[in-house]
Amino acid sequence: MRIVLLGPPGAGKGTQARRLSERYGLPVIGTGDIFRDHAARGTALGLAAKEYMDRGDYVPDHIAVNMVLERLDQPDTREGFILDGFPRTVAQAQALEGALAAGGRPLSAVLNFKIGDEVAVKRLTGRLVCPNCKRVYNLNFKRPRVEGICDVCGHRLEARSDDDEATIRRRLLVYRKETQPLVLYFWERGLLRDIDAEAPEEVVADRTIEALSDLLDLEA
Ligand SMILES: [Zn+2]
Repeated sequence: MRIVLLGPPGAGKGTQARRLSERYGLPVIGTGDIFRDHAARGTALGLAAKEYMDRGDYVPDHIAVNMVLERLDQPDTREGFILDGFPRTVAQAQALEGALAAGGRPLSAVLNFKIGDEVAVKRLTGRLVCPNCKRVYNLNFKRPRVEGICDVCGHRLEARSDDDEATIRRRLLVYRKETQPLVLYFWERGLLRDIDAEAPEEVVADRTIEALSDLLDLEA
């Protein structure tokens, strides 16, 4: 099962990706993680990508595509994968689909998580992330039991450095502009389902399974 997750920052994509990963035993491939890995190793691709990310811009297609395709060559993606945050543009989608078609493993489903800008801003300000297990907390409405400590693994939580309101609004604007054509592209190919993601996590999880079942004719 090869799944792409779309949705603006704050839509809960990361959370739903983790749940799908546990349910189906597939790796979650996030471009953020790939970029950070390259940046930490100081690769040329990583350094180039970091410059764009630090400005709140998206990484240019050729850099992102090369990093993701390299990752999709790893053996853990043989049974499938969950792509979170890629593709961002129609050009990236075409490059991805071309490479996957060449390998005889086309995409199975594209899930589009939808939320309004005000909900996104509310969710993203005050966000804390566990760098170890990737769980997300929020000082406004999903506080950890012990201040600054992950409930699940006990690691110290970190604030996302790019999550001030002006940056968030800019990222949302860039997101809408860039991904609207992408949503249409996948929709026209019969691969896409919209998911209303303003509901609580559990409800969105049920909607996600329903949408997948609908696209793949699976038992829910
Ligand atoms: Zn944790």
